[in-house]
Parts: sequence; C-alpha cells; structure tokens
Amino acid sequence: MRDFIYNAHPARVILASGALARLPEEVRRLGLERVMVLTTKEQRQSGDEVASLLGPACAALFPGAVMHTPVAVTEEAMRVVADRSIDGIVSLGGGSTIGLGKAIALRTDLPQIVVPTTYAGSEVTPIIGETQDGIKSTQTTSKVLPEVVIYDVDLTLGLPASLSATSGMNAIAHAVEALYAKDGNPIIDMMAVEGVRALAGSLPRIVVDMGDREARAAAQYGAWLCGTCLGAVGMSLHHKLCHTLGGTFDLPHAETHTIVLPHALQYNAPAVPGAMAALAGALDNADPARALYDLAGTLGAPRALRDLGMPESGIDRATDLALSNPYWNPRPLEREALRACIAAAWAGEPPARGA
Ligand code: NAD
Repeated sequence: MRDFIYNAHPARVILASGALARLPEEVRRLGLERVMVLTTKEQRQSGDEVASLLGPACAALFPGAVMHTPVAVTEEAMRVVADRSIDGIVSLGGGSTIGLGKAIALRTDLPQIVVPTTYAGSEVTPIIGETQDGIKSTQTTSKVLPEVVIYDVDLTLGLPASLSATSGMNAIAHAVEALYAKDGNPIIDMMAVEGVRALAGSLPRIVVDMGDREARAAAQYGAWLCGTCLGAVGMSLHHKLCHTLGGTFDLPHAETHTIVLPHALQYNAPAVPGAMAALAGALDNADPARALYDLAGTLGAPRALRDLGMPESGIDRATDLALSNPYWNPRPLEREALRACIAAAWAGEPPARGA
C-alpha cells in the first residue's frame, strides 16, 4: 500500500430520474428565498421551466452564460444579483453555465445548486477558469465548489449525440490523468476506473439511441466520478496541452480533449504502467490509448486537430509553448516525442506506440 493524502470535497449529490422535481425542496433546505437561475440562450426554455418550478423562490432568470466564462458576462450577472437581492444560484446546463455560477460564487460566496446537463464534470470541482481580454486564467478555491448537485437523466436526453460523445470523452480524460496524478490516491483510482468503465460502456449506446435512458444514466454516473477525479487531484500533460491548444488556436474545448487524449496517454504510457493496467481493465483492451482512439471513431467524434481548424504550422508553435511553461508530468517533456504526439493528433493518426 502506497502512502497517500486524500482530501474529500463536501457535496450533496442527488442522482435520479425526475430528480429536478426535488429542486424546490433543495432550495428550501439551504434556506434560500430569492435564487437566480442561470442558463445559456440555447437552453432558455429549460431555464423558464425551472423558474416556474421554483415559483416565487426564483427572483431572476439569467440566460446569458457563454463558453469560457468571460468576466464581462459575470459582471452583467452580478448587477442582477445586486438589483434583485439574490441569495443563491441555480445553474442549469453544462460547464459554461456552471462556470458563470462559480464566478458569481467567487465574488459573493452565494450557495450554488447545480443541475448538470452535459458530462463535463465542472459541478464537482473547486476549479474556475475565467476569461478577460482574451486570456483565460484558472484558479482553485473551495469558494466555488457547488453545495448541491442534482443529476436528472431526463435533462440529458436532448443532449445531441456529438456533444454527448465529446463531453463524455472530456470526462474520461479527467479520470485518465487522475490515474497517474502526482497526488493520486487509491480512492480516486477506484472512482477513475469506475468512471471510465461507465462512460466507455454507455457512450456508444447513446450515439446510436439518444433516448437510451439506461445508457444516459450510466454516463451521468461516470461523469460524476470523472469530475470528482478532476476536482481531487492534479492534471498533467493532456489537460495542459488542451489548454494551450484551445487558447492559442481558439479550438472548441470538448473536441480538443477528445482528439488529444489517446496521444497524451500514449506519450505518458512508458512512465505509468500501473495506470495503463488499470485502464486496460476499465476499457477491456490491452492497448488503452488505441482503445480511446477507436472509441472516438465509434462515436463519430473528430480525431484530427486539423479538422478543427488548427494550421499545420501550429504543431511547432504548440510544441514550443508546451515546453516553455514547465509543469509536472509523469514522463519528462522531450521535444521530439512531444512534437510527434502533437503531429499525430493534428493529422488524426492512431497514437504511435513506442513514441
Ligand atoms: P457547454 O456548457 O459549453 O455547452 C455547450 C452547448 O450545449 C451550450 O449551448 C449548452 O446550452 C448546450 N447544452 C448543454 N446541455 C444540453 C442538453 N442537455 N441539451 C441540449 N443542449 C445542451 O459545454 P460543456 O462541454 O459542458 O462545458 C465546456 C466548458 O466547461 C469549457 O469552458 C470548460 O473549460 C469548462 N469546464 C470546466 C471545468 C471545471 O472544473 N472548472 C470542468 C470541465 C469543463
């Protein structure tokens, strides 16, 4: 048994079909009387439904959440918080909406109830990324950790197959990197393996039948576990690379994660035999990096960064950037091998064994 430190994050998690109906009770349980419901303009209708479910306990609906949590949007929402004497936040949506709720909590310490509708996992992390003047900065603080999470499978039935696939692969990436985290521990390892197994088993069923409730519930369970991994231990090459690529070439978040994951795992493979064995079990495949590449193919998800609009000249730029900002990784960053890893992800080739 290896030595470890395990920090558990407090959270009340409710996972059930129809769980949204419990929202008014959860709002009362926290003693809230004037909550603001957050969502995106695309999910406005669901936001309206939640607002009417809450009745007088809903003092405002703000359907203005957008990707990357721009500070300007947060400031707009903060004016509503002040004008309407808001005493709590209900975030309904994916990582973008949850990010806005966290940004408000960071400034006000207001309690958050989160109803996630994707698999990105932000609802169970103390992490917040905010964008100002085109620069995204991330911080970790328990101030932004939501108090209550309500997983209702019914709200995910409309999540398009493509978004289900990439958001699920994004969640798997959290678990993969948790398995070789510097500050990893056996509790998180169990969650990671179970999370990968749940998502890898359910996502192919979801893209065939978006309304498969059993698969949807398994994916949500997996997303919770994988998000918990992200919130509990440090991430390395894969997440840092995706952050650099996304910021430098303005690439979409979940798609970038989906494409890079098999290659980042292959890069680290020689240094992490324990994680590779755990993933081989979870994916039921002796070659986990290849299995993740094949899974993305089965899901019809993008597999080449060039298809997202990254120029070929970006391979060298991304390599330079990845090397210029050193961070801990289980395998030291070696220019040639790292460039080969990024080049394979750019071209959409299978991860190169022995790279
Ligand atoms: P998203 O929240 O950006 O949602 C994408 C689109 O899908 C939005 O238009 C949204 O309204 C819509 N949508 C969401 N759920 C839907 C549903 N069930 N049916 C129909 N449409 C739906 O996507 P995401 O992948 O969940 O979040 C990505 C963002 O989250 C990124 O900015 C990323 O950095 C952040 N993130 C943060 C953390 C963290 O711990 N802080 C973790 C993961 C992701």
